Amino acid sequence: MTPRFAVFGHPVAHSRSPQIHAVFAAQAGITMRYERIDAAPAAFADAVHAFGHAGGRGANVTLPHKPAAMGLCEALSPRALRAGAVNTLVRMPGDAPRWQGDNTDGIGLVRDLVDRHGLVLRGARVLLLGAGGAGAGVAPALLDAGVDTLAVFNRTVQRAHELAAHLGDARISVIDAERVDAMHAHESRRTTSGAHHRLDDFAFDLVVNATSAARSDQAPWSAFDLVLAKARVAVDLGYGDAARPFLEFARERGVARRIDGLGMLVEQAAESFRLWHGVMPDTAPAFATLRAELGDPP
Ligand code: NAP
Repeated sequence: MTPRFAVFGHPVAHSRSPQIHAVFAAQAGITMRYERIDAAPAAFADAVHAFGHAGGRGANVTLPHKPAAMGLCEALSPRALRAGAVNTLVRMPGDAPRWQGDNTDGIGLVRDLVDRHGLVLRGARVLLLGAGGAGAGVAPALLDAGVDTLAVFNRTVQRAHELAAHLGDARISVIDAERVDAMHAHESRRTTSGAHHRLDDFAFDLVVNATSAARSDQAPWSAFDLVLAKARVAVDLGYGDAARPFLEFARERGVARRIDGLGMLVEQAAESFRLWHGVMPDTAPAFATLRAELGDPP
């Protein structure tokens, strides 16, 4: 029987994962079937159960199921525990379907930034916009990559505090509305009077957008225009049209390097593939194909 793999989501029709895994499998000479399974939240647990009983060997999990997937796992990797979410299910040995949960999003982002784009994360000062599933997934990996500071801003500030408390790392700070105001006061004083203020608190090398606010009228990054004007790199975890508003905003503020989430998507898939098949694929061909289809980021 052809080994079965899948991506669970809701919606999931847009998912590029089947295409990416087909390229990886062809490269490795592996025959497998990888399908999209659309399951509404109330039907997710049953859908995973049915997939396991039908011989499913492994799965990716995307919005909105990543937190719920944790509860379906018999075992969780340290990465899944730190992220508080699972994006990869790996079938455990035995006849009955039991799952080990992992999270490959964070390592996917770091590999893309460091290996593909040549960024130096060690010592970097990073501003993370968004403490939802993706923000929580990438924060531990950025810390592991040796960033100097990780400031987290989230529309619902409580969620940013929860992420900081969960990770318990002195390099994390939460940016609340008060700190945003202070940032603006410092920056506008400096621009108008030329006076030197202590700007270190408000200077970032890298700004990462991990929100899903692309289509919102009140984009969270608009509060950080002065910060972005000094940043070297802007990263949006989305790709295609979803990455456009933030990266265009960054370009208008003069951010030299702008990176979308396409590379992260391919790299997180590669790490899932490695967990399932024990082979690390070459991600360049799948990335090049998708890049040609989606075009360059702004
Ligand atoms: P999520 O768990 O639903 O979280 C959404 C986040 O966006 C929260 O921080 C939320 O803030 C914020 N947000 C939404 N609308 C907003 C608005 N109008 N103003 C300010 N903040 C807003 O979603 P997610 O899983 O974190 O995904 C976020 C993005 O990352 C999506 O674009 C997703 O496609 C992308 N992603 C990419 C990859 C990849 O491989 N490239 C992997 C994972 C995710 P509140 O907490 O205040 O609601």
